[in-house]
Amino acid sequence: METRTGTAFDEHYTLIEKGDRLVRQSVVSVMASHDRIQRSRTLAADSQSWNRQHRRRWTAALAAVIGKKLRDGCLPSEPPLRIIGGPGTGHRCVVCEGKLRPTHLMVELLANGNETLLMHGDCFANWNAALGIGHSGGAIRSVRTG
Ligand SMILES: [Zn+2]
Repeated sequence: METRTGTAFDEHYTLIEKGDRLVRQSVVSVMASHDRIQRSRTLAADSQSWNRQHRRRWTAALAAVIGKKLRDGCLPSEPPLRIIGGPGTGHRCVVCEGKLRPTHLMVELLANGNETLLMHGDCFANWNAALGIGHSGGAIRSVRTG
């Protein structure tokens, strides 16, 4: 009888020790998670800052490219007759000459002279800004516009 009680006590004590150890491990895990969350916030803030700087530089560089292409006649200087938006098809953007990947918004437009031009949504916005219509650097939200 004493042995059974002793065994039951030992089992309870072992469970209490195990529970105590698990609580201590949980506290350590929670503290580590807080540290990781804080590091992620710092990285996200740095990333946003880099993104804003990159976007400013990219917009300025793109404006120069668009200006040259407008002067050279490589881009129309009139607003398009028709605009269609959708995912990229793998072709090259007529503005920045980057690849129009399926993850990019691609704008297909019919310009004067029935020429079809393909460009990124952001490049389209910057081209519009150069023509004095629309705005530059903003995200274009709609996938299909016409
Ligand atoms: Zn582009």
